[in-house]
Amino acid sequence: ATPTSIMVGTGKAAELGILFRHGEALQTLNSVRAVIFDKTGTLTLGRPALTDLDPSPGFEEAELLRLVAAVETRSEHPIAQAIVEAAKAKGLKVPEAEAFEAVPGFGARAQVAGRRIEVGADRFMAHLGVPISPVAHAAEQMAAQAKTPLYAAIDGELAGLLAVADPIKPTTPEALTALHRTGLKVVMVTGDNRRTAGAVAAALGLDDVLAEVLPDGKAEAVKALQQRYGRVAFVGDGVNDAPALATADVGLAMGAGTDIAIESADVVLMRSDLRAVATAIALSRAVLNNIR
Ligand code: ADP
Ligand code: MG
Repeated sequence: ATPTSIMVGTGKAAELGILFRHGEALQTLNSVRAVIFDKTGTLTLGRPALTDLDPSPGFEEAELLRLVAAVETRSEHPIAQAIVEAAKAKGLKVPEAEAFEAVPGFGARAQVAGRRIEVGADRFMAHLGVPISPVAHAAEQMAAQAKTPLYAAIDGELAGLLAVADPIKPTTPEALTALHRTGLKVVMVTGDNRRTAGAVAAALGLDDVLAEVLPDGKAEAVKALQQRYGRVAFVGDGVNDAPALATADVGLAMGAGTDIAIESADVVLMRSDLRAVATAIALSRAVLNNIR
């Protein structure tokens, strides 16, 4: 493509809320074989809500939520926000937490009213040596409905099973259909539970899923997918998407995402609507095929 045609293409893209940070990305996009999406905040709204709260025998619902919310008040994870909001909605008084610690990709913990509270994924409980088998079946059923099951432990004992659900953006199905129509593979990479990810993948008709990817494993996941598909684009919004955005042949960040994601990307999508990804690819093809 000539410098002029690239300028025309990126100008047209900008009018549509698609900011190319350099012209090369417009050319590279044309040769991409698969588009990899982060789940939370990219395919989904990124605003999970608490859907389930099941205390273990001997534990009380309001007390469980109060203690878990105390920990999550200190966390910046979107899941934490869902739990804090649920406690607020129930009018619970949330106590102060001490010695808070986030364990990225696993969960969070703190001391609350002299008790040790831990909340997170099944792998967090496995790491802590807290058995979750009594609720394994219930958790599987939640995950099959695309909910993310969470486990709470009080002083090392399983105190409850919770779940959050993060709705898919209304425009996501159409965005993925458009990509499929242009012959691209559509893939999801997420830190979420394997079964939850599988349910989301089935609902969206995804071609491939990598689940339970730890925060620092996303770039490696992109490399593995490059081996499988050839050139890839990665679309994400979070702090832990930055290495994947930089590793992909083309990184596209949501404009509403974190600064570090935007800085690591080649393209910034001003609207949180993934239909812009197919539009960007169509523009790339138009520039390379017609105006050459
Ligand atoms: P993702 O953003 O894709 O969910 P993360 O790596 O941030 O991936 O988290 C992976 C999993 O770890 C979450 O799905 C959740 O089960 C658990 N987790 C992480 N942080 C928290 C937290 N603050 N509270 C509860 N669970 C958490
Ligand atoms: Mg995200």
